[in-house]
Amino acid sequence: MPRRRNPEHERRCCAEPNRRERGASGAPPPAGTSVAYHLPMPTPPLHRPPRHPHAWAWLFGLSQLAVIAIWWVWGWKAGLPALMVTHGALVWATLRPRSRLLSPVLSRLPTQDRVVWLTIDDGPSDDTRAILDLLDRHEAKATFFLVGARAQARPELVADIVRRGHGIGQHSQTHPQAWFWALPPRAMRAQIDQAQSALTFLTGTRPRWFRAVVGMANPFVAASLKRHGLARVAWSARGFDAVLRDPAGVVARIERDLAPGAIVLLHEGAAHGRNVETLETLLVRLKALGFRTVLPEELDPAPAARPSEAHRAPGQLSRGQR
Ligand SMILES: [Zn+2]
Repeated sequence: MPRRRNPEHERRCCAEPNRRERGASGAPPPAGTSVAYHLPMPTPPLHRPPRHPHAWAWLFGLSQLAVIAIWWVWGWKAGLPALMVTHGALVWATLRPRSRLLSPVLSRLPTQDRVVWLTIDDGPSDDTRAILDLLDRHEAKATFFLVGARAQARPELVADIVRRGHGIGQHSQTHPQAWFWALPPRAMRAQIDQAQSALTFLTGTRPRWFRAVVGMANPFVAASLKRHGLARVAWSARGFDAVLRDPAGVVARIERDLAPGAIVLLHEGAAHGRNVETLETLLVRLKALGFRTVLPEELDPAPAARPSEAHRAPGQLSRGQR
């Protein structure tokens, strides 16, 4: 599969003529000589932390001024619907996992190759070891979106995930699934800060990807994502494996949305105990359909991902040691 161009690299390498254009000596061409420059079309990076995490507040404030003006001029019959629409937009953007209104979100990989990104939420768990063995047997890779507190309780599983070459993403510190969407700024910040610190300490690398609990990211998520350089990830295919216990049924639902570059949402540690079986059924089906698994770093190398020396405990893995 051809590698995707890295815009960061292209900005550096293509701002000046290449060596052949400069001549064998590497000297710049004489004055007046025309030189062909590469001007590649920039491609947006896959990894996009929010750049303007408070833009929503300004836009919302302006929308409320507009609502007041509408109410003033046309009365409540126009003002009330306008008020409901503006507030509804904020709620819709929070509850819809793929909404880009509040911050960028990756919900598919931009490729035409028959590859999928497996993302496994809610670990580590009693399923983790079996999942790792299964992935090894199928020569598959996945990104594990880990819950900080669960990772702290089972650091040996986190080390095993990293050692076997899988990705680590963060999925909050305590996974408050009923209220994550409604957390106020301070509590939201604590969820993301603590998980980032825990996972950075345990893996020696700062996670780059974030998945909101139940996929719902309210307006207060973006500021923490920007501070930690985290990019939000949703999905394009899921089978509700956290609640449905029939592997064949779950995989059939996933299959409906399988396409090149699909991001598949999976879980581990569900109470029904069938997550490993579901993954096995899916891996067999993916192979039959000619799909292979991929991590996003294969398409978009991570210039910003650096081991955090400040957070690494003695004896922990560095990137070069894995
Ligand atoms: Zn979850």
